[in-house]
Amino acid sequence: MIEVKNVFKYYGNVMALDDVSFTVNEGEVVGFLGPNGAGKSTMMNIITGYLSSTSGDASVCGIDVLENPDEAKKKIGFLPEQPPLYREMKVSEYLNFVYDLKKCTLNRKAHVDEIMAVTKIANVRDRLIGNLSKGYRQRVGIAQALVGNPPVMIFDEPTVGLDPKQIIEIRNLIRNLGKNHTVILSTHILSEVQSVCDRILIINEGRLIADEKTENIARVAGSDRRYTVKIAGPRRDILRELRALSGVRSAEDTGDGDADGAAFDVEAERGIDIRKSLFNMLASKGWPIMELIPRGMSLEDVFVRIMDEDERRRTAPEGRRGGKE
Ligand code: ADP
Ligand code: MG
Repeated sequence: MIEVKNVFKYYGNVMALDDVSFTVNEGEVVGFLGPNGAGKSTMMNIITGYLSSTSGDASVCGIDVLENPDEAKKKIGFLPEQPPLYREMKVSEYLNFVYDLKKCTLNRKAHVDEIMAVTKIANVRDRLIGNLSKGYRQRVGIAQALVGNPPVMIFDEPTVGLDPKQIIEIRNLIRNLGKNHTVILSTHILSEVQSVCDRILIINEGRLIADEKTENIARVAGSDRRYTVKIAGPRRDILRELRALSGVRSAEDTGDGDADGAAFDVEAERGIDIRKSLFNMLASKGWPIMELIPRGMSLEDVFVRIMDEDERRRTAPEGRRGGKE
């Protein structure tokens, strides 16, 4: 449905995209996740034909965006970071204007009415866009993207600047659109991709560093490898031995604890179950485990972790990849 192949983008000397490739299949809802400045808007503007890549290809529904931008644009409804709204137009007037602009051939009244119903803006159809709340304006932005009924919807940070209630409404709207559209949305908010998207593409400094099903992303980053362990014994000695234990990636004294013992955060190397060796080592020292709690990872942790690991991969000398810090 959407194919991006080896895309590079330079703004002068600034490399905004560094060899990005991915595909999005029909019906998928894909989240483009990355911190500010990662290259999300640049990528979306290239897919939608509003910006050309320095090199590489992008196609939508088999149409090359660079060669055939006008045809490609017909397949895409786009909500840019700055929605192209005219504050002095009324909502229905604006949607009719977009209808003309897109040279839409669907039944005008039925189509515009349907879009206003889907985006729940019929009640403000005669209001000036400039007088609407940010939440309503964003829905009008989504409505203009829907004009012409394109199969692909692309939303660039659709919930930025909205209050929590508006955010929920916009997410619900996008989730519903995802039932019969292919959707890409960008965000720097992890919970957003988690609640809306089937798949997550993580972009950092112009490079794609993860492409995973949403349900797998936490596991990939190792959410089953961290424990909080409460141990009875001398704190400093325990910490030293934990850190020396094979398979332990990191161990920290949390500073917490009670009469039973001191609490430590222990994280295993990827793919290693440290529970047995942890038990055996502590037993041999006479330091009983009072509590062992698997610690899930928040998506924030996952994000930071994936970015850290990518950073380490890039900076580690050849042959020393994946070593302990
Ligand atoms: P994001 O949408 O993820 O915040 P952008 O795609 O807007 O990231 O920007 C990616 C990088 O490209 C940033 O370093 C940004 O400063 C730079 N950049 C974006 N647009 C321009 C431009 N028009 N001219 C120069 N640099 C730009
Ligand atoms: Mg952006």
